[in-house]
Amino acid sequence: MDATQNNAAPSQALSQGKGGKEDAIRQLAEASASGDGSIFSTLTSNPLFTAGFGLAAMGATLRYGSQGLRRGAELARRRLLVDLEVTRHDPSYPWVLNWMTTQFQNQLKPTGPRKDLGTMEYLIQRFTPGLHHLQIDTTRIKTAGGSEQTMFSLVPGHGKHILRYKNAFIAVSRERIGKSFDDKGRPFETITMTTLYHQRKIFEDIFQEAHLAANEHNEGKTVVYTSRNQGWDASVEPKRRRPFDSVILEEGLADKIRDDVQEFINTREWYLDRGIPYRRGYLLYGPPGTGKTSFVQALAGALDFNIAMLSLSKRGLTDDLLNKLLEQVPPQTIVLLEDADAAFSNRRQRDADAYSGSTVTFSGLLNALDGVASAEERILFMTTNHIDQLDDALIRPGRVDMTVHLGNATEWQIGKLWDRFYAPYDPEGEGKRQFVQRAKDMGLVDNVSTAQLQGVFLYNKDDPEGAIEMVGQLASIVHAQ
Ligand code: ADP
Repeated sequence: MDATQNNAAPSQALSQGKGGKEDAIRQLAEASASGDGSIFSTLTSNPLFTAGFGLAAMGATLRYGSQGLRRGAELARRRLLVDLEVTRHDPSYPWVLNWMTTQFQNQLKPTGPRKDLGTMEYLIQRFTPGLHHLQIDTTRIKTAGGSEQTMFSLVPGHGKHILRYKNAFIAVSRERIGKSFDDKGRPFETITMTTLYHQRKIFEDIFQEAHLAANEHNEGKTVVYTSRNQGWDASVEPKRRRPFDSVILEEGLADKIRDDVQEFINTREWYLDRGIPYRRGYLLYGPPGTGKTSFVQALAGALDFNIAMLSLSKRGLTDDLLNKLLEQVPPQTIVLLEDADAAFSNRRQRDADAYSGSTVTFSGLLNALDGVASAEERILFMTTNHIDQLDDALIRPGRVDMTVHLGNATEWQIGKLWDRFYAPYDPEGEGKRQFVQRAKDMGLVDNVSTAQLQGVFLYNKDDPEGAIEMVGQLASIVHAQ
């Protein structure tokens, strides 16, 4: 048999189906056993070749074996486990993160003597890992007053953690996705929780608990949002609500504004049925220190709203950013745009000397106010100390529906403010009569701001006499302005 014949035999045999295949294998084995010098027999008799072949076969078996195992594990995983993913964009993300922190903090280590616990319970408690990888979350917030507040909180770091909740083990993985950042400069990330399929109900409990905890934390408080990194950022610690009657406006005025806002909130359907953008704007104007900002804060508290504050004179605030911010106002939030006149003074400056700074422009403000309407209400307050600098175009329904003047303290306001500080010391009201009379005599009525009065009362916190004595001093300051 020559080499050509030897090679032809298997190929013929192979083409003959199952029986032929066995023949071909037999022939090949015979050919190699006979050591007839063909290429095939040379190769198969070569120990290096056969060892390589053996190794390759072993490698393939291992590879397929491990793939099979992996597939099997994946299948089992899919059948037995359930995942839940929360992305950073979801409003529940911070609640879940806080919930995780609390869970890890409460993670039980054996608390009592072993005999008080069942063996299983003891072992579970003993070997449940605690949280060893924390991350510090630092938030810096510029308050409307310009000062900066820094707040820290500890949250579970990136990576994998195990926690136990209601006797279920949950594998938690907090991961960054790629190297991208959202438009607030925060990395994209997700939290994935995995547990046994038959325990999937606990996810509902977890979310309910996390939501409840977030609500409790904010109860009786106002979340203050300020603009940061192209978006709104919530104060980490919500502020205690300011009592509505702690801001003393002219008689009946505070109630009038609150009733108007309440009426607006109650008539959502009316707006939506008529296709009218569901928004209402208020302009508060008057000298500094007359309670414009404080009133909006107190109003938000009274209506159970949060507040998003922004000064139009803030450096770096562009028309685009303003537009974007107004489109992204969190639900149940009153917007407070302070220093509304800034947009108008920019325009004048621009007209005069082609100034083109990065601050917001008049048309930018109007565009942002008229921007895309959503089904959510938008309640927006603007404040200014310079009403004369505003343009009439601003006073249009939907932009500004109600304009309110908050002036210097009237006689009524002076008396009311006195009561807030000194009512317990002055049950007969004699001190109040004296104080108001002196203020009148010295020309303070309608000339002194409520903030200045508050300053005197704070200085003489428990001392009404001291406040009466200071009227002269206050008058000289006010008249020197
Ligand atoms: P504005 O925004 O008009 O400049 P603010 O609301 O910032 O004034 O007030 C400055 C300070 O003065 C705050 O501490 C506030 O409590 C106090 N204040 C001003 N006006 C009033 C008022 N009408 N009633 C009570 N407090 C006031």
